[in-house]
Amino acid sequence: MIYNFSAGPAMLPAAVLKRAQEELLDWQGLGISVMEISHRDPAYVRMARQAEQDLRELMSVPDDYHVLFLHGGGRGQFAAVPQNIATSSATVDYLDSGIWSGYAIREAEKFVGRVNVVGGRVQTEQGTAIAPFEQWQLSDDAAYFHYCPNETVDGIALHQLPTQVTAPIVADMSSNILSEPLDVSRFGVIYAGAQKNIGPSGFAIAIVKQSLLTQPQQQVSTIMDYAAQAADGSMYNTPNTFAWYLSGLVFQWLKEQGGVAEMGRINAAKAALLYDFIDKSEFYQNRIHPDFRSRMNVPFQLINEQLDAEFLRQAEQQGLMGLKGHRFVGGMRASIYNAMPLAGVQTLVEFMQHFAEKNG
Ligand code: PMP
Repeated sequence: MIYNFSAGPAMLPAAVLKRAQEELLDWQGLGISVMEISHRDPAYVRMARQAEQDLRELMSVPDDYHVLFLHGGGRGQFAAVPQNIATSSATVDYLDSGIWSGYAIREAEKFVGRVNVVGGRVQTEQGTAIAPFEQWQLSDDAAYFHYCPNETVDGIALHQLPTQVTAPIVADMSSNILSEPLDVSRFGVIYAGAQKNIGPSGFAIAIVKQSLLTQPQQQVSTIMDYAAQAADGSMYNTPNTFAWYLSGLVFQWLKEQGGVAEMGRINAAKAALLYDFIDKSEFYQNRIHPDFRSRMNVPFQLINEQLDAEFLRQAEQQGLMGLKGHRFVGGMRASIYNAMPLAGVQTLVEFMQHFAEKNG
């Protein structure tokens, strides 16, 4: 049994992959694969609209939001958001809570007048935290406020909605979308690269409040233009038809599992199991303040980092893949998205315990 803890592209539900395999050569009895038919074919369009419908249902997306299926992954949206939601002279607010926020900020700087960083991380006795709301330096006239509620590399998360923000809230949910219930109506834009909780990479979902697109904006390349894509049902140009199809299978699987409420329960249990073990151990550590710990990406370090390579070697031998931390931060990271069952985390904890006993 292999458990894949990769941060993304990440583990997909085995049932989804199996279904895609079964259908690969003959999709819907047409005798050809889903990759080989036109995106205008009625069978494909039906599937695509059903996928949108399923995502709307899973996230309880209000009717006054577009749900867009776009190209270019998470970083594509780093560029699309400022172009669609701000003018080139606008001020926009960004929270800088980690590596991905930083990339989003640097991209936005190319398209707007001023990117105001409202705040970021702080060190506390209990570990790294995000600065409390009261300390954020929000601007009065921001076209939007952007943040990344789950920083995939740093394993730091903002679990509370930033309710004091009055500008439209834009959230990069690449690594936590669909992981727990969410009130979409509190957001202006939610976007996500697909390759963690949704499907294949290079693909992105954007959920956009329609009223934001009536404001004056700058020139946007049509492929990134939310209004144009919405008008064309996300088929302004040929979409990534296979990614859309596979994402649709993941949405169906999520519905069968009991939706985001059930995912939220399982994800909380998985994260608690792993963090509790790390906190009780003298062999491993996590440096994030308990209130700000990600439930999707759990970075941890061996106190004796000389053992890192051996840890990874033995983990792989046991079928525990993808545990190496991001190249910028080192150590280990266990990404435990929706497709990772509780049994995978239990197996990881047992392995970590065993490794600590043998090497402690
Ligand atoms: N935002 C977050 C939070 C991410 O984790 C990632 C990818 N790991 C990205 C954006 C960038 O996604 P992509 O590689 O699809 O552009």
